[in-house]
Amino acid sequence: MKKPLLSIKNLTKVYGQGTKALNGVSIDFYPGEFIVVIGPSGAGKSTFIRCINRLVNPTSGEIVFDDVHLESLNARILRRERAKIGMIFQHYNLVGRTNVIKNVLHGQLSNTPIYKSLFGLYKEEDKQEAVTLLKKVGLEEQMYKRADALSGGQMQRVGICRAILQRPKLLLADEPIASLDPLSANTVMQQLRDISEERQLTCVVNLHQVDFARKFATRIVGIKDGRIVFDGPPSKLTDTIVSNIYKGKEHQMTLKQADERLPSPVKEAVAIMHHKEENEKNKEYSTIGK
Ligand code: ADP
Repeated sequence: MKKPLLSIKNLTKVYGQGTKALNGVSIDFYPGEFIVVIGPSGAGKSTFIRCINRLVNPTSGEIVFDDVHLESLNARILRRERAKIGMIFQHYNLVGRTNVIKNVLHGQLSNTPIYKSLFGLYKEEDKQEAVTLLKKVGLEEQMYKRADALSGGQMQRVGICRAILQRPKLLLADEPIASLDPLSANTVMQQLRDISEERQLTCVVNLHQVDFARKFATRIVGIKDGRIVFDGPPSKLTDTIVSNIYKGKEHQMTLKQADERLPSPVKEAVAIMHHKEENEKNKEYSTIGK
Protein backbone atom coordinates (compact mmCIF):
# COMPACT_ATOMS: atom_id res chain seq x y z
CA MET A 1 0.00 0.00 0.00
CA LYS A 2 1.21 3.51 -0.86
CA LYS A 3 2.11 5.93 1.90
CA PRO A 4 -0.72 8.39 2.66
CA LEU A 5 -0.22 12.00 1.60
CA LEU A 6 -2.59 13.10 4.32
CA SER A 7 -3.25 11.27 7.54
CA ILE A 8 -5.94 12.52 9.90
CA LYS A 9 -6.33 11.07 13.39
CA ASN A 10 -9.14 11.64 15.85
CA LEU A 11 -9.95 15.10 14.53
CA THR A 12 -12.44 17.01 16.63
CA LYS A 13 -13.80 20.52 16.26
CA VAL A 14 -16.00 22.17 18.84
CA TYR A 15 -17.08 25.72 17.94
CA GLY A 16 -17.31 28.45 20.57
CA GLN A 17 -20.97 27.93 21.36
CA GLY A 18 -20.38 24.20 22.00
CA THR A 19 -21.37 22.80 18.58
CA LYS A 20 -19.41 19.60 17.95
CA ALA A 21 -18.90 19.88 14.20
CA LEU A 22 -16.35 17.02 13.98
CA ASN A 23 -16.33 14.12 16.37
CA GLY A 24 -13.20 11.95 16.19
CA VAL A 25 -12.59 11.75 12.44
CA SER A 26 -9.73 9.45 11.38
CA ILE A 27 -8.89 8.85 7.73
CA ASP A 28 -5.94 8.54 5.32
CA PHE A 29 -5.84 9.99 1.80
CA TYR A 30 -3.43 8.61 -0.81
CA PRO A 31 -1.66 10.28 -3.75
CA GLY A 32 -3.84 10.63 -6.84
CA GLU A 33 -7.19 9.99 -5.14
CA PHE A 34 -10.19 12.12 -6.09
CA ILE A 35 -12.20 12.09 -2.89
CA VAL A 36 -15.69 13.54 -2.73
CA VAL A 37 -17.13 14.24 0.72
CA ILE A 38 -20.92 14.09 0.93
CA GLY A 39 -23.41 14.54 3.74
CA PRO A 40 -26.41 16.61 4.77
CA SER A 41 -26.20 20.32 5.52
CA GLY A 42 -24.47 20.89 8.85
CA ALA A 43 -22.81 17.44 8.82
CA GLY A 44 -19.32 18.94 9.17
CA LYS A 45 -18.04 18.74 5.58
CA SER A 46 -16.85 22.32 5.36
CA THR A 47 -15.31 22.23 8.83
CA PHE A 48 -13.48 19.03 7.85
CA ILE A 49 -11.99 20.54 4.70
CA ARG A 50 -11.08 23.81 6.42
CA CYS A 51 -9.38 22.02 9.32
CA ILE A 52 -7.03 20.36 6.81
CA ASN A 53 -5.45 23.69 5.82
CA ARG A 54 -6.25 25.26 9.19
CA LEU A 55 -8.62 27.90 7.90
CA VAL A 56 -10.46 26.45 10.89
CA ASN A 57 -8.33 25.46 13.88
CA PRO A 58 -9.16 21.97 15.14
CA THR A 59 -9.94 21.48 18.83
CA SER A 60 -7.94 18.23 18.99
CA GLY A 61 -6.49 15.52 16.79
CA GLU A 62 -3.66 15.16 14.29
CA ILE A 63 -3.30 16.28 10.67
CA VAL A 64 -0.14 14.92 9.07
CA PHE A 65 0.37 16.23 5.54
CA ASP A 66 3.45 15.29 3.53
CA ASP A 67 5.12 14.14 6.79
CA VAL A 68 4.46 17.44 8.60
CA HIS A 69 2.09 17.84 11.56
CA LEU A 70 -0.07 20.78 10.51
CA GLU A 71 -2.11 20.99 13.72
CA SER A 72 0.78 22.39 15.75
CA LEU A 73 2.61 24.67 13.29
CA ASN A 74 3.40 28.30 13.93
CA ALA A 75 2.12 30.86 11.41
CA ARG A 76 5.36 31.08 9.39
CA ILE A 77 5.80 27.36 8.80
CA LEU A 78 2.05 26.96 8.29
CA ARG A 79 2.29 29.47 5.40
CA ARG A 80 5.06 27.42 3.82
CA GLU A 81 3.09 24.19 4.12
CA ARG A 82 -0.11 25.83 2.89
CA ALA A 83 1.66 26.77 -0.32
CA LYS A 84 1.49 23.02 -1.12
CA ILE A 85 -2.29 22.96 -0.61
CA GLY A 86 -4.50 24.59 -3.26
CA MET A 87 -8.00 25.74 -2.38
CA ILE A 88 -11.08 26.25 -4.52
CA PHE A 89 -13.93 28.21 -2.94
CA GLN A 90 -17.68 28.22 -3.51
CA HIS A 91 -17.67 31.94 -4.31
CA TYR A 92 -14.46 31.73 -6.38
CA ASN A 93 -12.50 34.35 -4.35
CA LEU A 94 -11.23 36.12 -7.48
CA VAL A 95 -10.17 39.76 -7.64
CA GLY A 96 -13.07 41.12 -9.70
CA ARG A 97 -11.33 44.22 -11.10
CA THR A 98 -8.24 42.30 -12.15
CA ASN A 99 -8.01 40.43 -15.42
CA VAL A 100 -8.32 36.68 -15.69
CA ILE A 101 -4.66 35.85 -16.35
CA LYS A 102 -3.47 37.94 -13.39
CA ASN A 103 -5.98 36.17 -11.18
CA VAL A 104 -4.46 32.86 -12.27
CA LEU A 105 -0.93 34.17 -11.66
CA HIS A 106 -1.96 35.05 -8.10
CA GLY A 107 -1.76 31.28 -7.55
CA GLN A 108 2.01 31.65 -7.66
CA LEU A 109 2.19 34.44 -5.07
CA SER A 110 3.44 32.07 -2.40
CA ASN A 111 6.48 31.31 -4.58
CA THR A 112 7.11 34.86 -5.83
CA PRO A 113 9.26 37.39 -3.94
CA ILE A 114 7.18 40.30 -2.61
CA TYR A 115 8.86 43.00 -4.75
CA LYS A 116 8.24 40.98 -7.90
CA SER A 117 4.58 40.37 -7.16
CA LEU A 118 4.11 44.10 -6.35
CA PHE A 119 5.30 45.02 -9.83
CA GLY A 120 3.53 42.12 -11.49
CA LEU A 121 6.86 40.58 -12.51
CA TYR A 122 5.87 36.98 -12.90
CA LYS A 123 8.19 34.33 -14.27
CA GLU A 124 7.88 33.60 -17.97
CA GLU A 125 7.26 29.91 -17.28
CA ASP A 126 4.41 30.82 -14.93
CA LYS A 127 2.85 33.06 -17.60
CA GLN A 128 3.14 30.25 -20.15
CA GLU A 129 1.63 27.78 -17.72
CA ALA A 130 -1.24 30.17 -16.92
CA VAL A 131 -2.00 30.47 -20.65
CA THR A 132 -1.84 26.69 -21.11
CA LEU A 133 -4.21 26.14 -18.19
CA LEU A 134 -6.68 28.77 -19.38
CA LYS A 135 -6.69 27.20 -22.85
CA LYS A 136 -7.29 23.81 -21.31
CA VAL A 137 -10.45 25.05 -19.58
CA GLY A 138 -11.61 26.89 -22.70
CA LEU A 139 -10.97 30.44 -21.49
CA GLU A 140 -8.36 31.65 -23.99
CA GLU A 141 -10.78 34.32 -25.27
CA GLN A 142 -11.38 35.61 -21.74
CA MET A 143 -7.74 35.93 -20.65
CA TYR A 144 -7.64 39.74 -20.66
CA LYS A 145 -11.19 40.34 -19.47
CA ARG A 146 -11.92 41.48 -15.94
CA ALA A 147 -12.77 38.53 -13.74
CA ASP A 148 -16.09 40.09 -12.74
CA ALA A 149 -17.22 40.05 -16.37
CA LEU A 150 -17.30 36.23 -16.41
CA SER A 151 -20.14 33.83 -15.68
CA GLY A 152 -20.08 31.78 -12.45
CA GLY A 153 -18.91 28.66 -14.27
CA GLN A 154 -16.12 30.57 -16.00
CA MET A 155 -15.05 32.16 -12.69
CA GLN A 156 -14.79 28.75 -11.09
CA ARG A 157 -12.66 27.52 -14.00
CA VAL A 158 -10.33 30.48 -13.33
CA GLY A 159 -10.34 29.40 -9.66
CA ILE A 160 -9.20 25.94 -10.72
CA CYS A 161 -6.39 27.34 -12.91
CA ARG A 162 -5.22 29.59 -10.06
CA ALA A 163 -5.12 26.68 -7.62
CA ILE A 164 -3.27 24.47 -10.12
CA LEU A 165 -0.68 27.16 -10.94
CA GLN A 166 0.28 27.07 -7.28
CA ARG A 167 1.55 23.54 -8.13
CA PRO A 168 0.01 22.01 -5.03
CA LYS A 169 0.33 18.45 -3.83
CA LEU A 170 -3.19 18.54 -2.45
CA LEU A 171 -6.24 20.36 -3.76
CA LEU A 172 -9.20 21.17 -1.52
CA ALA A 173 -12.53 22.34 -2.93
CA ASP A 174 -15.31 23.52 -0.64
CA GLU A 175 -18.65 23.23 -2.47
CA PRO A 176 -17.10 24.36 -5.79
CA ILE A 177 -20.32 23.89 -7.78
CA ALA A 178 -22.96 24.89 -5.23
CA SER A 179 -23.64 28.22 -6.98
CA LEU A 180 -23.69 26.85 -10.54
CA ASP A 181 -26.39 25.53 -12.87
CA PRO A 182 -26.16 21.77 -13.59
CA LEU A 183 -24.49 22.17 -17.00
CA SER A 184 -21.75 24.52 -15.74
CA ALA A 185 -21.38 22.34 -12.64
CA ASN A 186 -20.73 19.30 -14.82
CA THR A 187 -18.10 21.16 -16.90
CA VAL A 188 -16.31 22.41 -13.77
CA MET A 189 -16.28 18.94 -12.18
CA GLN A 190 -15.10 17.29 -15.40
CA GLN A 191 -12.23 19.77 -15.80
CA LEU A 192 -11.25 19.49 -12.15
CA ARG A 193 -11.19 15.71 -12.44
CA ASP A 194 -9.26 15.73 -15.76
CA ILE A 195 -6.59 18.17 -14.59
CA SER A 196 -6.17 16.33 -11.28
CA GLU A 197 -5.81 13.01 -13.04
CA GLU A 198 -3.32 14.40 -15.52
CA ARG A 199 -1.16 15.76 -12.70
CA GLN A 200 -1.78 12.91 -10.28
CA LEU A 201 -3.03 15.44 -7.76
CA THR A 202 -4.89 14.39 -4.64
CA CYS A 203 -8.25 16.18 -4.41
CA VAL A 204 -10.75 16.47 -1.58
CA VAL A 205 -14.03 17.99 -2.76
CA ASN A 206 -17.16 18.72 -0.71
CA LEU A 207 -20.39 18.29 -2.64
CA HIS A 208 -24.08 18.39 -1.88
CA GLN A 209 -24.93 16.48 -5.04
CA VAL A 210 -24.65 12.70 -4.66
CA ASP A 211 -25.02 12.15 -8.44
CA PHE A 212 -21.92 14.26 -9.14
CA ALA A 213 -20.05 12.42 -6.37
CA ARG A 214 -20.90 9.08 -7.99
CA LYS A 215 -19.88 10.32 -11.42
CA PHE A 216 -16.51 11.88 -10.60
CA ALA A 217 -15.10 10.46 -7.36
CA THR A 218 -12.60 7.62 -7.10
CA ARG A 219 -13.56 7.44 -3.43
CA ILE A 220 -16.57 8.78 -1.55
CA VAL A 221 -16.60 9.73 2.12
CA GLY A 222 -19.97 10.20 3.82
CA ILE A 223 -20.11 12.44 6.89
CA LYS A 224 -23.05 12.69 9.26
CA ASP A 225 -23.14 14.49 12.61
CA GLY A 226 -19.38 15.04 12.49
CA ARG A 227 -18.50 11.36 11.98
CA ILE A 228 -17.49 9.31 8.95
CA VAL A 229 -20.37 6.94 8.19
CA PHE A 230 -19.23 5.74 4.74
CA ASP A 231 -15.86 5.38 3.04
CA GLY A 232 -15.55 3.52 -0.24
CA PRO A 233 -15.65 3.59 -4.04
CA PRO A 234 -18.78 4.95 -5.83
CA SER A 235 -19.79 1.37 -6.72
CA LYS A 236 -20.27 0.58 -3.01
CA LEU A 237 -22.44 3.63 -2.31
CA THR A 238 -25.89 2.03 -2.52
CA ASP A 239 -29.15 3.98 -2.45
CA THR A 240 -29.82 2.54 1.02
CA ILE A 241 -26.50 3.91 2.30
CA VAL A 242 -27.28 7.31 0.76
CA SER A 243 -30.70 7.45 2.38
CA ASN A 244 -29.16 6.49 5.74
CA ILE A 245 -26.61 9.30 5.43
CA TYR A 246 -29.38 11.83 4.81
CA LYS A 247 -32.00 10.16 7.09
CA GLY A 248 -33.41 12.40 9.79
CA LYS A 249 -31.92 15.45 8.07
CA GLU A 250 -34.62 15.85 5.43
CA HIS A 251 -36.13 18.76 7.32
CA GLN A 252 -32.89 20.67 7.05
CA MET A 253 -33.19 22.56 3.80
CA THR A 254 -30.02 22.92 1.84
CA LEU A 255 -28.96 26.52 1.34
CA LYS A 256 -29.92 26.19 -2.30
CA GLN A 257 -33.44 24.95 -1.50
CA ALA A 258 -33.87 27.68 1.10
CA ASP A 259 -32.58 30.17 -1.40
CA GLU A 260 -35.10 29.12 -4.02
CA ARG A 261 -37.94 29.98 -1.63
CA LEU A 262 -36.78 33.51 -0.98
CA PRO A 263 -37.97 36.59 -2.89
CA SER A 264 -35.25 38.12 -5.12
CA PRO A 265 -34.23 41.19 -3.04
CA VAL A 266 -33.76 38.96 0.01
CA LYS A 267 -31.82 36.46 -2.12
CA GLU A 268 -29.49 39.20 -3.27
CA ALA A 269 -28.91 40.45 0.27
CA VAL A 270 -28.22 36.90 1.48
CA ALA A 271 -25.81 36.30 -1.42
CA ILE A 272 -23.88 39.48 -0.60
CA MET A 273 -23.76 38.51 3.07
CA HIS A 274 -22.45 34.99 2.30
CA HIS A 275 -19.93 36.41 -0.11
CA LYS A 276 -18.66 38.89 2.50
CA GLU A 277 -18.52 36.19 5.15
CA GLU A 278 -16.58 33.83 2.92
CA ASN A 279 -14.18 36.57 1.84
CA GLU A 280 -13.56 37.40 5.47
CA LYS A 281 -12.86 33.76 6.34
CA ASN A 282 -10.62 33.32 3.33
CA LYS A 283 -8.67 36.54 3.72
CA GLU A 284 -5.94 34.73 5.56
CA TYR A 285 -5.60 32.29 2.69
CA SER A 286 -5.33 35.01 0.07
CA THR A 287 -2.39 36.61 1.83
CA ILE A 288 -0.13 33.60 1.43
CA GLY A 289 3.32 34.83 0.56
CA LYS A 290 2.37 38.52 0.53
P1 ADP B 1 -21.53 21.31 6.24
O1 ADP B 1 -20.38 21.86 5.48
O2 ADP B 1 -21.64 19.82 6.18
O3 ADP B 1 -22.83 21.98 5.92
P2 ADP B 1 -20.36 22.72 8.52
O4 ADP B 1 -18.99 22.20 8.69
O5 ADP B 1 -20.53 24.02 7.81
O6 ADP B 1 -21.26 21.58 7.81
O7 ADP B 1 -21.07 22.83 9.93
C1 ADP B 1 -21.04 21.79 10.90
C2 ADP B 1 -21.70 22.30 12.18
O8 ADP B 1 -20.88 23.33 12.74
C3 ADP B 1 -23.08 22.91 11.96
O9 ADP B 1 -23.88 22.63 13.07
C4 ADP B 1 -22.78 24.39 11.86
O10 ADP B 1 -23.89 25.16 12.27
C5 ADP B 1 -21.62 24.55 12.84
N1 ADP B 1 -20.70 25.64 12.44
C6 ADP B 1 -20.04 25.78 11.27
N2 ADP B 1 -19.26 26.89 11.27
C7 ADP B 1 -19.45 27.46 12.49
C8 ADP B 1 -18.92 28.63 13.11
N3 ADP B 1 -18.04 29.44 12.49
N4 ADP B 1 -19.33 28.91 14.36
C9 ADP B 1 -20.20 28.11 15.02
N5 ADP B 1 -20.74 26.98 14.50
C10 ADP B 1 -20.37 26.66 13.24
